[in-house]
Amino acid sequence: MSELKIRGLRVSVEDKAILKGVNLTVRAGEVHALMGPNGSGKSTLSYALMGHPKYEVNGGEMHLDGVDIMEWSPDERSRAGMFLAFQYPVAIPGVTLANFLRTALNARRKADNHEDKGIPIPEFRKLLKEKMDYLGMDHSFAGRYLNDGFSGGEKKRAEILQMATLEPKIAVLDETDSGLDIDALRTVSEGVGALKGPNLGVLVITHYQRMLNYIKPDIVHIMLDGRIVESGGPELALQLEEQGYDWVREKYSKIAI
Ligand code: ADP
Ligand code: MG
Repeated sequence: MSELKIRGLRVSVEDKAILKGVNLTVRAGEVHALMGPNGSGKSTLSYALMGHPKYEVNGGEMHLDGVDIMEWSPDERSRAGMFLAFQYPVAIPGVTLANFLRTALNARRKADNHEDKGIPIPEFRKLLKEKMDYLGMDHSFAGRYLNDGFSGGEKKRAEILQMATLEPKIAVLDETDSGLDIDALRTVSEGVGALKGPNLGVLVITHYQRMLNYIKPDIVHIMLDGRIVESGGPELALQLEEQGYDWVREKYSKIAI
């Protein structure tokens, strides 16, 4: 069973300390929601988890299945089974979603076996169709250029399809804090609902309480000023929905920075 374990993670961006000691464990089979006000460091955590070079790790530990991955490149982390859905995915005109997915899948296969010649195209087409049918997506979607002119909901749909195809062990989905429409919310939550299972651990990052109307997380965390200050069950989500973040700020206002 897969496990991502983070201990005392400290991260800075452009010499500004953002994460100030994050502890978090996500296991396969669990859906975690990471909530918190804007600017609390949620996206910074997702970038640090994926190994973005701009996010400097100043301390702490990061283990995937007991292996220290802190020095690993984003590519190595991905091949080891981590998946990060970017908050602002880039558009690649000229590259279809299907081609992109096949390239990504082949990179994964080659990492597992150097001899691998890549998935045969008919087999890939079959796989992609199965995944799209399972997720209720129109087959024409895979023929579109990656994120080119995609709506917020379509970008999320592309991410979910990528996740379904690559079958990661641990997926981190960071929600955009602006322009997130109901369509996108529903796509992510239905996708997570469809893909969740004993072999997948999910960390959904969101600012919005309303996200929790769609995703039913097993464990809810609240991040405030670069730390996870509260963790609990779904009841924590209900409390946030009713009371917002003010009580959290009040409770932790005395913590020194
Ligand atoms: P959240 O996702 O919770 O809204 P972020 O992780 O995006 O929070 O941001 C946390 C803090 O880090 C903010 O003060 C933000 O201005 C700063 N920050 C994040 N990314 C960058 C960056 N690339 N360059 C400069 N500052 C950044
Ligand atoms: Mg963010």
